[in-house]
Amino acid sequence: MKKGKKLYEGKAKIIFASADKNLVIQHFKDDATAFNNQKKANIEGKGILNNRISEHILSALKDVGIENHLVKRLNMREQLIELVEIIPIEFVVRNIVTGSLTKRLGIEDGTVLNKPLIEYCYKNDELGDPLVAREHIDAFGWASISELNLITENCLRINDFLQGMFKGINIKLIDFKLEFGKRKSDGKIILADEISPDTCRLWDSDTDKKLDKDRFRKDLGDVVEAYQEVARRLGILHEYVNNIRPIKFPKPTAVKIKKK
Ligand code: UDP
Repeated sequence: MKKGKKLYEGKAKIIFASADKNLVIQHFKDDATAFNNQKKANIEGKGILNNRISEHILSALKDVGIENHLVKRLNMREQLIELVEIIPIEFVVRNIVTGSLTKRLGIEDGTVLNKPLIEYCYKNDELGDPLVAREHIDAFGWASISELNLITENCLRINDFLQGMFKGINIKLIDFKLEFGKRKSDGKIILADEISPDTCRLWDSDTDKKLDKDRFRKDLGDVVEAYQEVARRLGILHEYVNNIRPIKFPKPTAVKIKKK
């Protein structure tokens, strides 16, 4: 697929035109930002891992009938995706209370929620992505109530699926962020966002070790190693990519077969 001109550059990704007017090429950068762009770094190999992890998760979601923008991965850093008109809302799904919610409401970090909580944030960097109510989303025409209901239902299905998938690899899905958009080709609302350790909080089930972007936000170190661990547990890291340290597997022990 021939890459056309750059259409948009965000904090962690670049969007290029493709030969098809309804499709674009999404390039994953190694750049990381936090705290509304105040903290920035380049984390070598992060883009490659997010491309692979997101491809794996979006393909699995497609297999269970959750439509999303992924068409196919093109190479180590790029995927072909469907062009959408993005709904300017970040849908945050929470299973365990941490991060901004603890500060905002004084709820103890690690509190397990009885049922998933969905929060809506208006996508606006200058305003710091403020929390908004469903009524704001409806009043300002960002999405109608029926569209919101459909998206909320999708968020809960995605949460169910992801919780199970991560549980199977000994990871707790604490919370995550999703974005949805209207597909250019037919106007249908679909999931249109990466799902990766950049956008999810993932804790090891036994040790609560953070395997996500909080390692960068909180200066915990070993950021790429944590993302690599998620990819390894998902069974998608088979080769040595760029500067990412290869995982050392124990050497197979030689078995002597006695000749009779
Ligand atoms: N999140 C994200 N992009 C954002 C804001 C949040 O991907 O711009 C994700 C974040 O990684 C976490 C979840 O949404 O998994 C909830 O984040 P929270 O509101 O607690 O934000 P923070 O603590 O980062 O301010």
